[in-house]
Amino acid sequence: MGHYKTLLFDLDDTLLDFGASEDVALQKLFDDQQFTLTPEVKSNYKKLNDSLWRAYENDEMDRDEVVNTRFARLFEQYGIHVDGVALEQNYRKYLSEGHHLIEGAIELIQKIHTEFDLYVVSNGASYTQQKRLKDSGMAPYFNKVFVSEDTGYQKPMKGFFDFVFAQIDNFDASETLIIGDSFSADVTGGWNAGIDTCWVNIKERVNQHPEIIPTYEIRKLEELYGVLGINRKVNEAFSGN
Ligand SMILES: [Mg+2]
Repeated sequence: MGHYKTLLFDLDDTLLDFGASEDVALQKLFDDQQFTLTPEVKSNYKKLNDSLWRAYENDEMDRDEVVNTRFARLFEQYGIHVDGVALEQNYRKYLSEGHHLIEGAIELIQKIHTEFDLYVVSNGASYTQQKRLKDSGMAPYFNKVFVSEDTGYQKPMKGFFDFVFAQIDNFDASETLIIGDSFSADVTGGWNAGIDTCWVNIKERVNQHPEIIPTYEIRKLEELYGVLGINRKVNEAFSGN
């Protein structure tokens, strides 16, 4: 505990509440199409989208195919033909406007950035992720932001981590921790890359890959203070008397 120097943070559903931004963006997109976004339609979209991103993580599909076909595939289920590329562009614009924070995220980052070198490691579209990070107010605390679209690889691929490690000054794997909510992308990626991992298992998922063991598993972001050996109340303690 407390021996880390470099922290690699996943963005979506680790620091930013992707689900909240996604809900708002989807609503705007469906309003444009004058198509009612019922809970059932939303659930179908999420199932479809998850399966496409899983194919991407497994290297069975490239990013463009995922994002440019998902809305065409979805509306096809309802017998409607849409321009998947055009819808994706609108969706991405709406998504880039959303930067809802996970509870305690900004306080955490502000608190730890002086003691650790912070980096973002995110699968996604570069412009969208950069804009959301900037609008969230967290961007100034990160040394660098690595988005899969810019690297040519994605988590959990070894190539992604090799790219990241090469761009960190005086990188030392033994002093590096990745923190993320996705077992398949963040924990598996970190495990394969030979660094410690902290699984932010907010949704209390069951580990489907018992051969891969996260170094830490936490239920909420604030438990990271303990993992990092930081007394989050230190300022209060000083001003307490
Ligand atoms: Mg995530």
